[in-house]
Amino acid sequence: MTACLFCDIAAGKRKANLVYENDDVCAFRDISPQAPTHVLVIPRKHIATLNDLQEADADLMGKLMLAAKEVAAAEGLSAKGYRVVVNCNRDAGQTVFHIHLHVLGGRYLGWPPG
Ligand code: AMP
Ligand code: ZN
Repeated sequence: MTACLFCDIAAGKRKANLVYENDDVCAFRDISPQAPTHVLVIPRKHIATLNDLQEADADLMGKLMLAAKEVAAAEGLSAKGYRVVVNCNRDAGQTVFHIHLHVLGGRYLGWPPG
């Protein structure tokens, strides 16, 4: 095990309910779902927060968004709609410091978020 839970999941060292993966990205169901579909999409590379993104990560973040689109399609959400969220640091409630997209859907999602 390493110090990072999501690095361990990406490396297959810790169990998760994987729904999508490729060389750069993997996606798995959130352990505490906030909607009927709640999937986390992560890069295999460790990046702690959105604040830590570098220019060199631009392609990787594009791949993350493409993976979110694929997950939403596989969950049957494309037409009905869904939300993709990145929480950054304390005020946004970030609890796992390995960057991730939340893909949420399957119910009406209020706006603005809490
Ligand atoms: P955030 O608050 O944006 O940092 O989101 C972290 C998310 O990771 C939360 O929604 C947690 O429920 C979720 N989470 C924490 N541990 C695990 C785990 N072992 N497997 C799947 N999801 C997890
Ligand atoms: Zn990590």
